[in-house]
Amino acid sequence: MNPWEQALKQLEQVKAYVEIPETIYRRLAEPQNLIKGELEVGGKKYPAWRSQHNDARGPYKGGIRFHPKVSEDEVKALSMWMTFKCATVDIPYGGAKGGVAVEPRQLSKAELEALSRAYARLVTPVIGEKRDIPAPDVNTDGQIMAWMLDEYEKAVGYKAPGTFTGKPIALGGSLGREEATGQGGVQILKALLTQFKVPVATTTVAVQGFGNVGYWFARLAEAAGFKVVAVFDSKGGIVSEDLTGLEIEAVMTHKQKVGKVVGYKGAKDLASEELWSLPVTVVVPAALEGVIDKEVAEKLQAKYVVEMANGPVTPAADTVLKERGIVSVPDVLANAGGVTVSYFEWVQNLQGQAWDLEVVQAQLKRHMEEAFSGVWREWERLEGGQVNPATLKVGMRVPTYTIAVKRVVEAMMLRGNSR
Ligand code: GLU
Repeated sequence: MNPWEQALKQLEQVKAYVEIPETIYRRLAEPQNLIKGELEVGGKKYPAWRSQHNDARGPYKGGIRFHPKVSEDEVKALSMWMTFKCATVDIPYGGAKGGVAVEPRQLSKAELEALSRAYARLVTPVIGEKRDIPAPDVNTDGQIMAWMLDEYEKAVGYKAPGTFTGKPIALGGSLGREEATGQGGVQILKALLTQFKVPVATTTVAVQGFGNVGYWFARLAEAAGFKVVAVFDSKGGIVSEDLTGLEIEAVMTHKQKVGKVVGYKGAKDLASEELWSLPVTVVVPAALEGVIDKEVAEKLQAKYVVEMANGPVTPAADTVLKERGIVSVPDVLANAGGVTVSYFEWVQNLQGQAWDLEVVQAQLKRHMEEAFSGVWREWERLEGGQVNPATLKVGMRVPTYTIAVKRVVEAMMLRGNSR
């Protein structure tokens, strides 16, 4: 199942819980705008997209991904997930996503800059601080946002730092943005385990993906007292002997030296596929979509999944997980900390202010906790009482989507979009 089919299936499943007028449903089942182009760098051409899914609740919002597997359907799916993510945490944005089909590791720094600037030129006519606000995603970072903002501001002829988020601090970025996705995810995991009365200190965690999201999730989970026993990147993984827990900072130092987590001393190397059968309490997919399919769901040993990637669990796997009593925290809630602090960055830019880190962190915690308790109450309502993993009527995606889709539908109805 490709990501767009997956996103559509998830939307379709909410129909049983939310009344969606047919015209509104049809609008939600397509992005409002899809911008396509080809970026030429170093004599090669790279296909590029920006999908603007929905802007009923506010300007379009979502990252830009540089990855060889980026496709039109992937970008469309990611843009729909952004619409529901921003609605889940109740921030005033719609959803969008951009992507370029490229392996950025094969580009020189000058080529990466040229590609980033070419992308900014492609989307300049359709973005803006009150229109569509891009941010980093897989393989893009603050430096790339800086190049794009610079190119955009040159084209429009005035400063508009709120057009991109995830910027370096020196160009109007926010303190706390870099770690925000991981931080929000750890907060959600803690809130979940509190509900199920599971103690943090004995909870073991395996993380798939050691980019910005996976690294910060692992590091902040370790700081919060979890035992992060295994981490994986695209080349393989490591597990701490007798599951005592890894020192995440030291693993990162090792990765920076040799380019992979494999080979870290004091841990055992593992092949990528060994991750899913590890005897841990929590698995955290923090890389790409579709990694937990039906087969993986059937052999998973963990009791909880925290979806830090976008779309890591397929609909077929969702059903298996629910039947096996495994709780999967949906992406649009688990990884919403990133876009939430992007929202704070944008607010600061529009007001010409810079918040202290403590303010950012307190606001993030409040947003994540409020979103979590809203979802939890809805889940209890759907279960008709206590949430018991052994007898689930629905997985956690259902109450989350119910809340998010209702908010988007309400905004569309108020705008008269049902006609
Ligand atoms: N790329 C991130 C996401 O998927 C962040 C988006 C943003 O900050 O706009 O949520």
